[in-house]
Amino acid sequence: MQGLMMNTPLLISAIAEHGSRFHGEREIVSVTGDNPRHCYTFRQAINRSRQLANALDNLGLDHGDRVATLAWNDYRHLEIYYAVSGAGYVCHTVNPRLFPDQLIYIINHAEDRWIFVDAMFVPLLEKISEHIKDVEGFVVLTDAAHMPETSLPNVICYETLIADESAEYAWPDLDENSASALCYTSGTTGDPKGVLYSHRSTILHAYAGNAPDALGLSSNDVVLPVVPLFHVNAWGIPYSTIMAGSKIVFPGPKMGDGEALCELIESEGVTLALGVPTVWLALLQYCSKAGKTLGSLQRTVIGGAAVPRSMIQEFRDVHNVEVRQGWGMTEMSPLGTINAQKAGLESLSDDDKLDLATKAGRGMFGCELRIVDDDGNSLPWDGVAYGALHVRGPWVCSDYFKLDGSAESHTEDGWFETGDVATIDANGFMAITDRTKDVIKSGGEWISSIELENTVMGHEGVAEAAVIGVAHPKWTERPLLVVVRAAGTNATRDELLAYYEGKVAGWWIPNDVQFVDELPHTATGKIKKIELRKQFADYAFPD
Ligand code: AMP
Repeated sequence: MQGLMMNTPLLISAIAEHGSRFHGEREIVSVTGDNPRHCYTFRQAINRSRQLANALDNLGLDHGDRVATLAWNDYRHLEIYYAVSGAGYVCHTVNPRLFPDQLIYIINHAEDRWIFVDAMFVPLLEKISEHIKDVEGFVVLTDAAHMPETSLPNVICYETLIADESAEYAWPDLDENSASALCYTSGTTGDPKGVLYSHRSTILHAYAGNAPDALGLSSNDVVLPVVPLFHVNAWGIPYSTIMAGSKIVFPGPKMGDGEALCELIESEGVTLALGVPTVWLALLQYCSKAGKTLGSLQRTVIGGAAVPRSMIQEFRDVHNVEVRQGWGMTEMSPLGTINAQKAGLESLSDDDKLDLATKAGRGMFGCELRIVDDDGNSLPWDGVAYGALHVRGPWVCSDYFKLDGSAESHTEDGWFETGDVATIDANGFMAITDRTKDVIKSGGEWISSIELENTVMGHEGVAEAAVIGVAHPKWTERPLLVVVRAAGTNATRDELLAYYEGKVAGWWIPNDVQFVDELPHTATGKIKKIELRKQFADYAFPD
């Protein structure tokens, strides 16, 4: 027997209309490339999203077509999120920190038809424009007065594009499973892979994010997302804030600037801030130097990489701010676990509470977890046994865009293999202990160790090379190149590092080189990265 409830589709446009109607006066504050402090309301934002939706329809796009963004966190980027997805197109957020070859690959693979770009990234697109021929035009995110000179073809100014459009728009009645957004991850081996979110997955993820033991957003919150809108939908913040009615403070290009972030927190009364550990290190260092404390801030959600115990302690003891660690992945929309306090554990000592807070957290309702051994057997949740971490749920990807299962990312019984290795304790707190995937995470962004190894193998002085991530106080991890020299050669550290220049992005180049006589191998001849990581566990980068 079927239930007798309405089968109303879960659509992103419904969040826009809800936010505008119930929280129309709530503010959105942005730092942008052309304005140090822009401020308007939810109602104005959604009106402009409707104007943009009309403009997109006039561009002759078909439902499902991809529209890309290359932009910082600000109000125009938010308008695009709602207009593109709400109107039935797919909002493809592109990471401007990628190397030109990766940008070309991603834009072509996605078959983007238009690109909305911040003025400061226009030169980046000029460099690659002859290789992205399917793109029909570019919209620069500024007003007519700030339009840059450019050699890009078919360029429109954003404010001009929407100026004469109506703020009335009938959002289409889409299938809730239709695609809404696309984000590529380089956190796996091989080419970047596209994760294609749906309206349904996005709404369920936003509901779950707003639960009290997750991000816990309410209409009383003032939220500073220092997680980029170009990376996994800024952890769902564009949706959960508008759904809850939380004021939003967008830092624009000031993401890594401790002083600017502190000033935003103080002047806008931020209660919740979200970001990767590297960002908070900059903020804490600034506060400590300037003798400031973060008065309004109540909690911060830190994820994307392991959160150092000292950071959690400094937030708690100096600023009276609760740190909630989060773990997730692009493939998971991204939230999987959040480390919020659990009833029954109040009597733990302060030290034990800190230890617990260094774990990745408890699974959210809607995201199932399991850890398995090499034969796929489930391991006990005792906080000791560790194994490959698998996840399953309505906001976890079922495949990658246009790969038709070839990435072999899922088990036969339908779980997604995260590439992380973890323990789970009896209270359900998961802790990441290692990674099976061959990538390094620096400042929250991926570096491919395989690409670094392949590149340096082109140097005649290298017989064999491996690149591993080693702990770094600022970036969490940085690449270390470990090399076996070719017989009769004597390549130096500086020579090998210089060899990378122009071949990979500058921030990918390893911080140091160690020369060894041999590398550890598996029986099948692969380099044993786990053993190599153990070998260099005590290694510290030179200053
Ligand atoms: P991304 O897809 O770029 O969001 O990266 C997801 C990956 O980042 C995970 O599979 C982990 O390897 C890593 N990661 C995310 N959050 C954490 C965390 N709290 N602790 C350790 N690693 C994390």
